[in-house]
Amino acid sequence: MKITFYGVRGSIPVSGLQTVKYGGNTSCVHIELESGHDLVLDAGTGIRALGKRLVHKSTPVSILLSHGHWDHVQGYPFFAPIYQPGRDINVYIHVESQHRMLCSLFEQMDGSNFPIRAEELPSNGVCKFKGVESELYEREGVRVIRQALNHPGGGVAYKIVDNGITCAYVTDNELHPPGNEASTYDQWVEYLHGVDVLIHDAQYTEDDMPHKHGWGHSLISQVRQLATDAEVGALVMFHHDPDRSDSELDEIQIENQKYLKSHRAPTRSICAAEGMELHLTRSILGGSARVEVKGGWAD
Ligand SMILES: [Zn+2]
Ligand SMILES: [Zn+2]
Repeated sequence: MKITFYGVRGSIPVSGLQTVKYGGNTSCVHIELESGHDLVLDAGTGIRALGKRLVHKSTPVSILLSHGHWDHVQGYPFFAPIYQPGRDINVYIHVESQHRMLCSLFEQMDGSNFPIRAEELPSNGVCKFKGVESELYEREGVRVIRQALNHPGGGVAYKIVDNGITCAYVTDNELHPPGNEASTYDQWVEYLHGVDVLIHDAQYTEDDMPHKHGWGHSLISQVRQLATDAEVGALVMFHHDPDRSDSELDEIQIENQKYLKSHRAPTRSICAAEGMELHLTRSILGGSARVEVKGGWAD
């Protein structure tokens, strides 16, 4: 499994000298499966650069949307494969009652907000509301297991199991929200137990609280606690706050490493950066997969 980060920022894209190192595009992660099939997690502004690469292929693309907030759908009209005649593009969400999630992806292309209408696209953009688990399994031998996010408006986390290697994508998620929880902390620990790579929302620090309690994102300190409790192989901090500078993220990475070391956790800390690649291979000795980091900034 190869994971490449195209957009790691939360809420809104940012640019400028303070965000050069980690990047300013919003959520988009590309997973190249063992079969060579392309799985895309979210369609934030990062998907534009991914599209420039995938447009040279003709194989099907599967897009798994976590939810319909604009920082997760805004890049879709600029995803080049949707303009390829006959290209097979499947967009999946999992909450049938929340049809609007998918609508947010396509309704931005209505001729008014964007010059081209979704129905004019020459690709075979197919919308599917459920069944990704069985469909991908049948087609690619991959299992996708979902879990409900704690986020305003709802959303879905994905755990992808490919040939014994597991990656979980959990953004935008508030581990300890006020009021009702879609998933409790203990359910997260169980769902994520032993995954090789956990990509988790790590938007806030203690300074953001209590003002942003209930906005649907987690404290970095809560996320590293979760990674420790769930004994994950590598924690990738993701969905960085638009106000978080490169130097602040460097400091957070150092803090995480100290915490994990002092708790003798088996977990490695990685701070998501645009262009970073994770190459996952199963160790012949068993245990967690070997994670090789290329590009970006880690450890
Ligand atoms: Zn978001
Ligand atoms: Zn959101």
